[in-house]
Amino acid sequence: MSDQERTALVTGASRGIGRECAVRLAALGHRVAINYNTHPEDADEVVKIIRDAGGEAVSVGGNVAVRDDVEKMIAETEEALGPIEILINNAGIISDSLLMRMKDEDFDRVMDTNLKGTYFCSRITVPGMIKRRWGRIVNVSSVVGIRGNAGQTNYSASKAAVHGFTKSLAKEVSGRNVTVNAVAPGYIRTATTNVLSEKLKDTVRSWIPMGRFGEPEEVAPLIVFLCSEDARYITGDVVRVDGGMAI
Ligand code: NDP
Repeated sequence: MSDQERTALVTGASRGIGRECAVRLAALGHRVAINYNTHPEDADEVVKIIRDAGGEAVSVGGNVAVRDDVEKMIAETEEALGPIEILINNAGIISDSLLMRMKDEDFDRVMDTNLKGTYFCSRITVPGMIKRRWGRIVNVSSVVGIRGNAGQTNYSASKAAVHGFTKSLAKEVSGRNVTVNAVAPGYIRTATTNVLSEKLKDTVRSWIPMGRFGEPEEVAPLIVFLCSEDARYITGDVVRVDGGMAI
């Protein structure tokens, strides 16, 4: 049986992993809101790709770290596409430095986007999911939230916190057919990792049993599966997609 067509919001869907998830959800017939923060033109491009393929999508701007923005983008999504049934909390940033040199504002910015953004989006959409007795939430975390990484105390703390958030929320809402899971990617080839120096990329590859970075196309299928009807008995899990990096 194919899945019912649903409304999905993917945060940070204008590029990278989020974009790949949005395009795949739309290909399955779901209506998808493409959230972006600073680059509307990238989000418009994703909307065009989906519409050209016969799918339904809208772009919704907003900073996930700002409650007013999140309220607005959720209202826009629901007005255009109907109540949100699938939420992919994917928007995330890095701002790396050793703790000794870290600026307080870099710590706050990373926590606010990666953790508080996940909280705001979930806080505002979960009541509707509970009321309708169906929902899927997938939080995109990181393998760094499991194993830690020098130079990323802020980022790894935010992603480890997302794991705690995921498990706790799953305990609260799974009895209402709302599942909550996290997917923890390893190093994936996107704008986030393209900025690393070649030397650092070589070091990172030496940590990965598969010996290479992953692609967004290798992460998105799992996220999309966790949003499906077939994944209904999977909740509160943190699943790695990391080429074995955290074994
Ligand atoms: P990209 O850097 O390719 O894209 C980031 C996306 O998030 C963009 O669409 C960007 O929009 C959006 N975004 C950034 N900040 C905000 C914000 N405050 N509010 C709303 N949207 C925002 O990201 P990736 O695909 O690399 O990463 C996606 C997720 O996967 C992140 O949570 C990241 O931490 C995680 N991850 C990535 C890994 C990797 O190796 N790439 C590894 C492990 C985890 P705009 O451009 O308009 O600002």
